[in-house]
Parts: sequence; structure tokens; C-alpha cells
Amino acid sequence: MIHNFNAGPSILPKEVFEQSAQAVLNYNNSGLSILEMGHRTPEFTEIMEEARGLVRELMHLDNDHQVLFLHGGASTQFMQVPMNLLDPKDTAAYADTGVWSSKAIKEAKLFGKIDVVCSSKEKNYSFIPNDFAVPNDAKYFHITTNNTIYGTQWQSIPKTSNVLIADMSSDILSRELNFNDFGLIYAGAQKNMGPAGVNLLVVNQNILGKVKHPIPTIMDYRNHIAEGSMLNTPPVFAVYVCLLTLRWLKAQGGVAAIEKLNQQKAALLYNEIDANELFTTNVVKEDRSKMNVCFVMKDPALEKPFYDYVKSNGVIGIKGHRLSGGFRASLYNALPISSVSYLVELMREFQQSHV
Ligand code: PMP
Repeated sequence: MIHNFNAGPSILPKEVFEQSAQAVLNYNNSGLSILEMGHRTPEFTEIMEEARGLVRELMHLDNDHQVLFLHGGASTQFMQVPMNLLDPKDTAAYADTGVWSSKAIKEAKLFGKIDVVCSSKEKNYSFIPNDFAVPNDAKYFHITTNNTIYGTQWQSIPKTSNVLIADMSSDILSRELNFNDFGLIYAGAQKNMGPAGVNLLVVNQNILGKVKHPIPTIMDYRNHIAEGSMLNTPPVFAVYVCLLTLRWLKAQGGVAAIEKLNQQKAALLYNEIDANELFTTNVVKEDRSKMNVCFVMKDPALEKPFYDYVKSNGVIGIKGHRLSGGFRASLYNALPISSVSYLVELMREFQQSHV
């Protein structure tokens, strides 16, 4: 049996794989594959509307917040956000908590003045800054709620009077937040929601339409809202797989229920890292991510033997990112708690044979 701790694209529920495979062969007994159906057909329009509706329901969104499924991966949002919200003379504030934040900052600088109000870079992004101020005139404040590479996560969302923008690519729908407090949320789907190739975007429509420069048609969120997320051909199959995952999440009891499970999974692994003599973590305790658990071996010479040991026992995807080294176990929504217990067991066995 395989235990998949990949950081993304990553594990999805087994029934989602089964249902999507069936839909590729014959969608809902229509005699057609989902891959050969027009996006303007009643079948796909229903898929899109149900998916948007489920996001609205699971995130408890108010009527000002619009749900879109867009192309391009989260990286496209690094430029699409400032393109829609920032004029050259405007300032936007960013928190620099990892590589993805810094990439977002780099793109935003093409559109306006960027004030990096805090950064944990000098400590290799091992913590979430808490001592900073956001200027009142900043058009928005951008955070990355979970730092996939370094394993840190904003445990509480900073209070601000500025429009709050969040890249939630690696913790979307994993915990309850007041999502209506955000002006805009974006997330590449390929961790908690579906396959690569589609972004979830939640935007408060009241923040749009304020910039003076022209926005290319396909980049302007207002056009996507007006067309019900069907401005052009959507990534049909990716949206369908997201729908299946959203249905699965609802059947689990929604975000509150999955959050409880995610807390248990993370506690299980962090407890072992803290207790086991061979392992430690560079991440500041109070900022530890519940999605991406990063850890190292006290003796780096044991890293390869441990990696080989777990790999030969069916554990996939725990090699740390090349920038942070060590190990990273991603515990996304669909990963069963039994996989975490299994990894913990292997860590204990490895300790017994190496101490
Ligand atoms: N933001 C975060 C937090 C991520 O983890 C990633 C990808 N791992 C990205 C942005 C970039 O996403 P994409 O590859 O979909 O552009």
C-alpha cells in the first residue's frame, strides 16, 4: 500500500479518482466522455454552478463574494491581483513569508509600489512575523496563509482595515476562517481541491473596478464574474474533479469536520518529531503548519537511510523541498490519519534501530 505525502499535485479521495475515471469513459451515462463535452452544454453548466455553489456553502460566503474557477495556476494570480487592484502610483503591502510570497511581490512590483511590511527571510522563513504595521493608504495587504515549502502557517489572520488578499493555495478549505473578511482569496487547486490546471478565486466584488488603467479582457475579474466563470473555455475536467472533491468534503461534514481531523493528523506527527531522539524541526513551534510538516534529522548522515527506509515501506513524497532540505510530509485533507500513524510507526522503528 502507498501512503502519499506529496506536496502538490497531491492525494485526493479515492472515490474522486474512481468517479473522475468513470466520467472520462462515460459521463453520467450520457455515452460521452466528460473530455468531449462542450462547456456550454447543460451538463457542464450544471457542474460549474454546483461547484461554485459548494464553495459558497462550504466557505459560508456572503453575496458580495463571488466564486470563480480560472486558468493559470496560482502564479498567474501573482500578477492578476495587482493588475486588477493597483495603479502605478498606488501602494500595496505584502508579508514576505516564503518563496511564494516573494514571487508574488516580484510580480506586483510591475504594477505599483510595493511595501514589504515584514519578512522572515533572514531566518530562512522559519517563522511568521507578528510585529509589523500596514500603512493605512495601502490598497491591499497580501499574505500567504500557508507556506508550503517552509512549513509555516498564519494561525490567526492579521486584523487589518486594508483590503486583505490571501494566497491560500496550500491550506484552502482545510480550516475554518471568516472568509468574508477577505477581499480576495486565490488558490491553485492541486493540493486540497483537485488536479492542477485550475485556480479557485473568491473575490469581494466591491473591491473591483477602482483602477484607472485598462485591464486586458481575460485578466479582468469583472468579466469572469459577469459570465459566471465561463468567459472562455474553462478547464472543464479540472473543474469537474474539484466538484467531486467538494462533494466529498461536504459529505465529511464540511470544513469544520476536516479541520478537526487535520489538527489530529498534525499533532500526531509533531508529537513524534518532538519526542523522537533522531528528529527535530527548524520551524518555530507556534507557527507550525498543519498542512506541510517540515522536519530534519539531528544527524544529517541518517537522512538518506531514513528516506530509503520509509520509501521501501510505501511512503511517497516526504523529501523536503530543495530550498529547505530535510523532510516534508504534506497532510492535505484527503490524507487519511492512518497514513500519518503509519509514518510515525516507521519513525519509531527507525529510532529503535539507530539509537
Ligand atoms: N502559492 C503557494 C502557497 C504554493 O504552494 C504554490 C505551488 N506549490 C504556488 C503559489 C504556485 O502555484 P502554481 O504552481 O499553481 O502556479
